[in-house]
Amino acid sequence: MINIIGKRSFLLVSRYSQHVRKMSLVKNLAFVNNKWVAATSGKTFEVTNPANGSVLGQVPDMDTQDTEEAIQVAYDAFQSWEFTTAKERALHLRNWFNLLEENKEEIAKIMTAESGKPLAEAAGEVAYGNGFIEWYSEEARRIHGEVISSPIHSKEMMLIRKPIGVAALITPWNFPIAMITRKAGAALAAGCTCVVKPAEDTPLTALAIAALAEKAGIPKGVFNVVTCSRRNAADVGKLLCQSPLVAGLSFTGSTNIGKLLYEQCASTVKRLSLELGGNAPFIVFESADLDAAVKGTMACKFRNCGQTCVSANRLFIQESIFDQFVSKLEETMRGLKVGDGAQPGVTQGPLINDAQASKVNDLVQDAIKKGAKVHLGGKPALDKGPRFFEPTLLTDVDHSMRMYHEEIFGPVAVCIPFKTEEEVLAIANGTRSGLAGYFFSNDLPQVWRVAKRLETGMVGINEGIISTPEAAFGGIKESGIGREGSHYGIEEYSYIKYLCFGNL
Ligand code: NAP
Repeated sequence: MINIIGKRSFLLVSRYSQHVRKMSLVKNLAFVNNKWVAATSGKTFEVTNPANGSVLGQVPDMDTQDTEEAIQVAYDAFQSWEFTTAKERALHLRNWFNLLEENKEEIAKIMTAESGKPLAEAAGEVAYGNGFIEWYSEEARRIHGEVISSPIHSKEMMLIRKPIGVAALITPWNFPIAMITRKAGAALAAGCTCVVKPAEDTPLTALAIAALAEKAGIPKGVFNVVTCSRRNAADVGKLLCQSPLVAGLSFTGSTNIGKLLYEQCASTVKRLSLELGGNAPFIVFESADLDAAVKGTMACKFRNCGQTCVSANRLFIQESIFDQFVSKLEETMRGLKVGDGAQPGVTQGPLINDAQASKVNDLVQDAIKKGAKVHLGGKPALDKGPRFFEPTLLTDVDHSMRMYHEEIFGPVAVCIPFKTEEEVLAIANGTRSGLAGYFFSNDLPQVWRVAKRLETGMVGINEGIISTPEAAFGGIKESGIGREGSHYGIEEYSYIKYLCFGNL
């Protein structure tokens, strides 16, 4: 790798990793029962910077025995956390939020180092991720039940909301803080305790926020982070699904793993929340403001180098404006800057790992081989390093190509022309995914029609960035079950208990 990017630039870039390694929030141990612990086996795995391969640290490679202990600790802690008042939980979450905000720059730097995300984007994700802890510190005090109007003189009836118990949270690498806080914020607010298993590629951000949870005074055993390598992920995941002490599992990641966990959770009939992959359509109708549509495309497609579950996967552009849109998009894409996300001005960092880099390249080469036209990019940016990919713009993409059906998860914009609203809705809805969808139109009746008919859990209308703690995030079809954020997020971690008072 040093040969590819040059010895001098390797030394320069790895200096950033050295700087991050010395940060006080960078931990090399897992966090269980408010203790910093090693794996029982003593094994560790390396965390590296995807921009240049430099090592950021080693963290414990925990196995099922370690996870069993973390589950037990969380279960024990639940016995008292469940009975804290809503106000007490709200204050704990508020303290945590305040510390997350005080340390936002350091967290963003750690995130850039382990995920490759440009610093400005990492700062944006920290603000967004912290926002869930703030939001749920407020929502904690608004978890209410109901008194039923009784149909019988001698009885009164009440519905109260109870926390489900221990929540297992399995999260991906593409949003190293936000995917944890939007689950943990809701779980803790509801009165649950949690065991978090972050992705192998990004455990340091998870451990950094655990250090701040400890400092915020969140009681021992309430928030635990078990780190493990990809080698142990399947066994640890299976245990989290099958342990009778775990009441619910919340997973964000790929659809295939989500389906496996769904099956594994059946044996204990667990509460399940799944945020899975998408295949987001992004439709531009001829009445749209083209500049706004291009701006929306850039934000939606190239954020995190295209590695977001709500990234536009296929851009459908109405025939009459197709050429104009493609040339505007190409011109705007020429402004993207590829490089190490820690360097100023970089907008496109590396892909997360070698597997992701070769998957994106395979999808692009498959499309080119089958006749796709390359307007820009089309190959790895090897001068920057082995995991970088050129921002790519393709047309003449059809259903014979893999990228037409699969989630690309890379900086590749694919423009496909369409004739009518009926036609584009049929294509956009003709997939088993249903996470996010976007469209740009200034025809009011069409706006309402299309918003209702797109088969997705979320719709961006003349907007490319839609997520916020106040709104309900989630998909339909094979993109998932349940909602995160908003007051609905609490429902994943609580159940309704019916109390019937008789002989009154
Ligand atoms: P992934 O391979 O499914 O991994 C997600 C998490 O699951 C990681 O912590 C991973 O650990 C763990 N894992 C892997 N195999 C497991 C198993 N057999 N049992 C239990 N856990 C297991 O997904 P990814 O590649 O990291 O993330 C990309 C996918 O996530 C995309 O499809 C994207 O659309 C989706 N995503 C969805 C949302 C949403 O909200 N809907 C948000 C972000 C991402 P390791 O890291 O050790 O493999």
